[in-house]
Amino acid sequence: MKSVQPQQRVYLSPPHMCGRELEFVQQAFASNYIAPLGPMVTGFEEDFAAHSGISHCAALSSGTAALHIALRLLGIGRGDIVLASSLTFIGSVSPVTFLGAEPVFIDSDTATWNMDPNLLSDAVKDYCRQGKTPAAVVVTDLYGQCADYDALREVLDRNGIPLVIDAAESVGATYKGRHAGKGGICAAYSFNGNKIITTSGGGMLAAEDGDFISRARWLSQQARENAPHYEHVEVGYNYRMSNIVAAIGRGQLTALNERVNAKRQLAARYEQALSHLPGISFMPEASYGRSNRWLTVMQVDEQAFGASPETIRLALERENIESRPVWKPMHMQPVFRQCAVYGGRVSESLFAKGLCLPSGTAMTDQDFERVIATIHSCAGEGAK
Ligand SMILES: *Cc1c(COP(=O)(O)O)cnc(C)c1O
Repeated sequence: MKSVQPQQRVYLSPPHMCGRELEFVQQAFASNYIAPLGPMVTGFEEDFAAHSGISHCAALSSGTAALHIALRLLGIGRGDIVLASSLTFIGSVSPVTFLGAEPVFIDSDTATWNMDPNLLSDAVKDYCRQGKTPAAVVVTDLYGQCADYDALREVLDRNGIPLVIDAAESVGATYKGRHAGKGGICAAYSFNGNKIITTSGGGMLAAEDGDFISRARWLSQQARENAPHYEHVEVGYNYRMSNIVAAIGRGQLTALNERVNAKRQLAARYEQALSHLPGISFMPEASYGRSNRWLTVMQVDEQAFGASPETIRLALERENIESRPVWKPMHMQPVFRQCAVYGGRVSESLFAKGLCLPSGTAMTDQDFERVIATIHSCAGEGAK
């Protein structure tokens, strides 16, 4: 009789080192810059600026920190309205509340799953009419697909409202040929452990305005005045990236193009293997850009497929395979129950029907087949 071996766990989006990270880390050790700041931080910022085509970058401790500093620099504070994507991760929105401002959520459209420019227009009109012009918009590039920046800008520019792009998930993606995040007043990126490239934890704030980024660096280092002693006119944060972490980032960045190609290939393989099943569909890719397919996300019509996304998730879990529901929309979160929302049905439906599939770029063919077989085995279960 065959003994049952516990299968190795398949993770949703585990780190994937390329091998060059240690070279950079060793350089950092050899230079003894075991510190926040140092040549690797500057090097990572320059590498990222070159890759993204955005002139100035500040390497920070997280994507959330990058958004916090961005909003602070835009002068957002108590009483301000900030419009934000509802279908996102909380790190996109928590900085609004750190500053005492009020988030108002905008639903997705079905074509891109990103912020609906028509609903944004409705919200801007309403608030401007009340004399409460929104102080900023934070838009998320969902699961590695850029939002339609130009369509959003059309609404915002005539009202002088800045667009902050939360590109935490879209590193390496493009919008009309430009890198994700290029086209707003600034963009925030994340190198958290689950993102397409990772430094274990970290973030980047990028902008065309060099002054904006200099001020971001200053705020991220406790807002110290230029004096030999410690002098403070404003309160800042301890949000700088460390030199060791930046070294990992420089190594990871050399593999980014490969990772994007691998993620896109994986998404295509999933579609090939599953989209013929009744009730199964996948996140659409907008014609204006190239998604990095950070996560492959499928939609399950329970009636047609014969099982719910949660049934599939639990079946995968029994096989030691990690999958996750789509982000629970911010307007459904208890912590934001007081906040206004424009629309809501689209993201609610995506949350109810969505499942994020294992999307690691180092996943073996064997593991991929395990995932596919498990999903196939769920089909029709509910109809029996
Ligand atoms: C990961 C993520 C963040 C936060 O990034 P951290 O580096 O984890 O702070 C913000 N927004 C979105 C959409 C994310 O996916």
